[in-house]
Amino acid sequence: MITSVGEVLIDMIAAEEGDLKDVGRFEKYPGGAPANVAVGVSRLGVEASLISKVGDDPFGRFLIERLKEEGVSINGIAIDTEKHTGVVFVQLKGAKPSFILYDGVAYFNLKREDIDLKILDESRIVHFGSVLLARSPSRETMLWVMGELRDRAVISFDVNIRRDLWRNREEEMFKTIEKAIKLTDILKVSDEELKLLEGEGIKAEGRLLTAITLGKKGCILRTQEHEVEIPGYPVKPIDTTGAGDAFTSALLVGIIAFREYFTESTLMKIGRFANLVAGLSTTKRGAWSVPRKEELMKYSEARDIVNRL
Ligand code: ATP
Repeated sequence: MITSVGEVLIDMIAAEEGDLKDVGRFEKYPGGAPANVAVGVSRLGVEASLISKVGDDPFGRFLIERLKEEGVSINGIAIDTEKHTGVVFVQLKGAKPSFILYDGVAYFNLKREDIDLKILDESRIVHFGSVLLARSPSRETMLWVMGELRDRAVISFDVNIRRDLWRNREEEMFKTIEKAIKLTDILKVSDEELKLLEGEGIKAEGRLLTAITLGKKGCILRTQEHEVEIPGYPVKPIDTTGAGDAFTSALLVGIIAFREYFTESTLMKIGRFANLVAGLSTTKRGAWSVPRKEELMKYSEARDIVNRL
């Protein structure tokens, strides 16, 4: 099983172009990077589970229902009786995506006692994003879980720098992200983030594997012994929201398929699969746009992985 730990939230996506100040209509979608990864993993045919926290409110019930429909185990989702489910207002259209994210919501209130260690013990890979690191007590909880998991599961971490969450706290952001990277086996980072981290003198490497995403150009997969660059899968994208999360879900499924055995050849196969899944995800709208295993069997890049699961 692959377990994600982190936010599941409501994406209120602007239904018209323009500044959020002027937008009058929004559409409700399920989202949150770690939740997106769990849904992707489940669609690709590997058991998936999510550890998170939602409010005792209609949005929380909606998210739980949607996750269940996607086959993601929700046993690790705690219900917060004080805080509401997280909501983000997003403008994706136009040159610069912008968002408003609220503090004081359930996922930032994730505490040690909310974590079911049994679920983690049953997981081969546990995946984390970086949003929980931006606030307390979720930050302490996440770093504690990562520490507990060391040598018990493969730890995956998507750096996903969101400066808006760390306004006036840049130094703290880099320090906290560095702490998480040091606990990471599989690191996913974009080429831009890698440059930023290196500029700060931070060694951005996972102990087992580092995946560097290059947008439409594909990705680089790097281990201590090997490095391969795999060109992107050519598509006509209509919505790249969640491409990074689609990539991560396929990357983790590929790693499971080869049981963390990395040679140039297995890395090429994993990278081709991740680029295919992420590329195809950009041809559909929304963050939950990973194609299902059955739809992928016509691609040799997918058969290489799926037939080994
Ligand atoms: P995000 O922007 O979703 O937070 P990220 O920065 O990791 O994540 P990208 O590097 O833009 O995302 O994309 C992740 C992967 O998605 C790429 O490695 C590639 O496989 C695929 N991808 C993204 N954009 C395109 C595109 N235009 N054409 C084909 N594949 C793409």
